[in-house]
Amino acid sequence: MKRKEEMTWLERMYLPEVLRGLTVTLFHFGRNLTLHILHSLGMARDTKAAYSTQYPEERKRYPDTYRGSHRLTLKEDGAVRCTACFLCATACPANCIHIEAGEHPDPNVEKYPVRYEIDTLRCIYCGMCVEACPCDAIRMDTYVHPRIWGFSRTDFIEPKEILMGRSHTLADGGRDSLMVQMLESYKAGEKRAMLGDK
Ligand code: SF4
Ligand code: SF4
Repeated sequence: MKRKEEMTWLERMYLPEVLRGLTVTLFHFGRNLTLHILHSLGMARDTKAAYSTQYPEERKRYPDTYRGSHRLTLKEDGAVRCTACFLCATACPANCIHIEAGEHPDPNVEKYPVRYEIDTLRCIYCGMCVEACPCDAIRMDTYVHPRIWGFSRTDFIEPKEILMGRSHTLADGGRDSLMVQMLESYKAGEKRAMLGDK
């Protein structure tokens, strides 16, 4: 960017630059509007117009590095891998992980979380819990974003069952299964709202 003293008299007026910006905006607006009208009439299909993703009906695939909702990983027998060591809760800067440890009936397993909850309204999705865990028991590789609506605070608290359920769904349905499930629930909710149901 040019310093003020390097600008010409015309540039210092700002008006020509404002007009130049408006021209670019109007050009793209006119081009897209024309192309969308032509496409709806079955013409100029080979020329692409710019468009927005119509979320949630359409979506872009999140990248592999996306830090999404949490899940508790599972052992081979389907039991929770977490040993209730409290390291994630200690590392959490938002203080939103609540664990209740219990004695496991199997003497080879020292402890397990009787209760494991994440308050997603407080969570800042920093990933410190994942980093702190010594057993790879908590991950954020679910490729879904956190819940964004609810009727009460408790709707945003994710218990152990939900966190383990995500691992089951991913194991059965693959990488995009949780997103597919989320989009279906949006559509079902929309349908219920249209029918005047709660
Ligand atoms: S992502 Fe960060 S804020 Fe959220 S539970 Fe983990 S440590 Fe806490
Ligand atoms: S998720 Fe990991 S760090 Fe957190 S309590 Fe369980 S084993 Fe410990």
